[in-house]
Amino acid sequence: MAKFIALIPAAGSGSRMGEAIPKQYRLLAGKPMIYHALHTLCDTTRISTVCVVLAPDDTEWLQHDWSKFSGKIRVFNCGGATRAESVTNGLKALYAAGYALDQDWILVHDAARPGLSTILVNRLLDQLADDEIGGLLAVPLADTLKRADDIDRVIRTEPRERLWQAQTPQMFRAKLLLEALKKAPANITDDASAIEALGFSPKLIMGDAYNFKVTYPQDLKLAELILQNYSIT
Ligand code: C5P
Repeated sequence: MAKFIALIPAAGSGSRMGEAIPKQYRLLAGKPMIYHALHTLCDTTRISTVCVVLAPDDTEWLQHDWSKFSGKIRVFNCGGATRAESVTNGLKALYAAGYALDQDWILVHDAARPGLSTILVNRLLDQLADDEIGGLLAVPLADTLKRADDIDRVIRTEPRERLWQAQTPQMFRAKLLLEALKKAPANITDDASAIEALGFSPKLIMGDAYNFKVTYPQDLKLAELILQNYSIT
């Protein structure tokens, strides 16, 4: 039977946060940011392995205590120059270590989405386990969309019908994901785009606002507030 394996690319520098420390290690609710997603993914019984992809020169990981997760996590210092490269290298490492087979499901999740809940992960697994292609968590767009010119003047209002904001985890079979990432255009920012470029249509599964990506300094306060409602041990 196909296994469910989580893969967290955590080799980014987080330059938009404007801090020296990579954002996945920024403390949130008393723990490094990545701890929260690890906690959720390791707590999801159906997930057998959680692979963490670090930058080859990462010096932060070993400064923290991850023993709580030691039964499930596998760490590889094989991150690349882009998120797609980090995911590709992580997948190859999983294959090489014998953890992943072609038909296993890979759930790629950003380290910078600490608000992921087990409810969302289980929804994704329940709704996609029998799917032909796979899919991703996403939320329908709530705001009105404005197209701007190069001096931030509105050119027009864009229709928002059927527009969704992509989140993670994004869940695809190991073989398809690796093949898609190998052929993907250089500028993709998520895994589903690589699958789409092969002509497939990933399924959108309802996520929630708590699973937003911490990107700018002002996002930290919001993430703290959300995490205060989760019991973190
Ligand atoms: O920078 P951004 O927020 O889009 O990064 C999304 C995720 O991809 C983060 O978990 C980040 O650590 C990871 N990443 C990576 N390797 C890179 C760039 C980003 O693993 N070269």
